[in-house]
Amino acid sequence: MGNHKASEIITAIQSVGNAKVVITTHHKPDADAMGSSLGLQIFLKNIGIPSVVITPTDFASFLHWMKGSHEVIVFEGNEVRATEITMAADFIFCLDFNHLSRINEYGEIVSASSAVKILIDHHQYPQGFEQMTYWDDKASSTCELIYRLISESKQQQYVDKDCASCLYTGIMTDTGSFRHSNCSSNTHRIAADLMDYGFDHVQIHDLVFDSFTEDRVRFIGYSLYKKLEVLHDYNTAIISINKDELKQFKIQTGDTEGLVNYGLGIEGIKFAILVIDRTKLVKMSFRSKGSFAANAFAMKHFNGGGHFNAAGGSSVLTLEETIELIKENLKLYQKELNAQI
Ligand code: 5GP
Ligand code: MN
Repeated sequence: MGNHKASEIITAIQSVGNAKVVITTHHKPDADAMGSSLGLQIFLKNIGIPSVVITPTDFASFLHWMKGSHEVIVFEGNEVRATEITMAADFIFCLDFNHLSRINEYGEIVSASSAVKILIDHHQYPQGFEQMTYWDDKASSTCELIYRLISESKQQQYVDKDCASCLYTGIMTDTGSFRHSNCSSNTHRIAADLMDYGFDHVQIHDLVFDSFTEDRVRFIGYSLYKKLEVLHDYNTAIISINKDELKQFKIQTGDTEGLVNYGLGIEGIKFAILVIDRTKLVKMSFRSKGSFAANAFAMKHFNGGGHFNAAGGSSVLTLEETIELIKENLKLYQKELNAQI
């Protein structure tokens, strides 16, 4: 399915009187997911369209400064209310994911709702569950796409400081602070446009990256010193975390974000993996450098997906079994992982 024009999407909503609009995003939403959801909510409010943000699960406390974050309905724990609102919706924006499995059980409710689903996303291989699409896997982030949607429909006057700060945050985090290959000159232009709305970018950086708990900083140190395994034959680094360690360091949602990247900081390492024993599943984060496709590895072996160099997946095996399976699968890629970039 091809993309819709920004104006078609906005006109569709405006043409329904008092349209009921829901905005949702993926499981354990990160800064791009929350920034795009809340940024879009603020913009829609400014053009006279109220909306409700529903997330499948909770999100990190370092995003609680975003305007509207306290009104977000978390499906887990508020199933009845979230279901009522979703079933009554005319439109559901689906941001920063493209497969209903990424929103867990809430996916069944979204699927059952007769609302028009509008996908805005930048991940590869969309499932195609939506009726309206604004998708570009070359975009740095969903926040970038929200800004493009607004500017393409010539409605920048309805962006304000709060909206701009949400959108800037997602662009900042999804580009790894403007350093990954998904960051283009256009991304910088959009970030510059957003900065002109007057938020304090130093404060945003501080809130997201320099406001960790002491436990979280010690957890990073512990993980790197005690839990990092470097597989030189495969130019791969693995960090694994068990349930006891999550408890010991009082790990909260968002506290493990960024940990996977340290492995890639080692000279010669092309593939970094973080494996965590979560409540129901073993979750994995994959990061790669250069031509090694992290999303293909995630998709093929661990029911996952994502971007070329940043992906995720899961396993129903134990933590130990999952690590063994990762190592077994790495054997299939030894040549690729040892090739020059
Ligand atoms: P993270 O490792 O930061 O959780 O996720 C990295 C990227 O992969 C993100 O863009 C995220 O949306 C995607 N991702 C993470 N886990 C999964 C998964 O289980 N399935 C799919 N399809 N994508 C995932
Ligand atoms: Mn994203």
